[in-house]
Amino acid sequence: MNMPSQHPSIIAIDGPAASGKSTIGLRLANALGYLFFDTGVMYRAVTWLALERGLDIRDEAALTALAEEAQIDVAPASRSDGRTCDVLVNGQDITWETRSRNVDANVSPVSAYRGVRSALTEQQRRIGLRGDVVMVGRDIGTVVLPDADLKIYLDATPEERARRRYEEILVRGGEADYDEILRKVRERDRIDSTRDVAPLKAAQDAIVVDSDQLTADEVFEQVLALVK
Ligand code: C5P
Repeated sequence: MNMPSQHPSIIAIDGPAASGKSTIGLRLANALGYLFFDTGVMYRAVTWLALERGLDIRDEAALTALAEEAQIDVAPASRSDGRTCDVLVNGQDITWETRSRNVDANVSPVSAYRGVRSALTEQQRRIGLRGDVVMVGRDIGTVVLPDADLKIYLDATPEERARRRYEEILVRGGEADYDEILRKVRERDRIDSTRDVAPLKAAQDAIVVDSDQLTADEVFEQVLALVK
């Protein structure tokens, strides 16, 4: 008798900035009826709160205390305004504030602090271990959930990722400078992959999906095939 096939319960998707992790992760979670959890929003929430309170971003002790004390909630999207989830800090909806240029520019240095990472990693692990989850970030397969059932590392060249980001902004009616976006993507890659604690890298047992020549639909189909 054939046993029904069992989907992996804990799915980790890591990769660099703008590699499409959130789009693919959300689609996958919806297809499987799993929780989608984008861990980047937690680092963004701490960064936003620090800027809001006028803290010095270089003050590691203050940032660590903030990460330990802030009540950050990530919930399924309550509105269809393009968000992939709701981000609340101390009860306030700051979903779009966490996408600001100022947060973009400061989030990587904040994420490099050991104390900030250990405060947030603990919360992420607790949620991940409940299972039926697609968790997206930089260190999910290596540090947060090293025993995940399926690990995917979604990659693309900086040029391609900058191009996608650029087009996203234009589609929303905004103004964008491709060269500036590319410079920022490269700078975030550099900080994220060279930090001492939990640097961005593919886990040894991760399956690398290179999305450079693929459409979003093709990437999704590949990832879904891996799950099944
Ligand atoms: O994925 P996103 O670009 O929103 O993440 C913002 C930043 O948060 C990343 O550039 C990285 O510095 C940090 N991050 C991290 N570990 C994670 C998720 C995000 O260090 N698991």
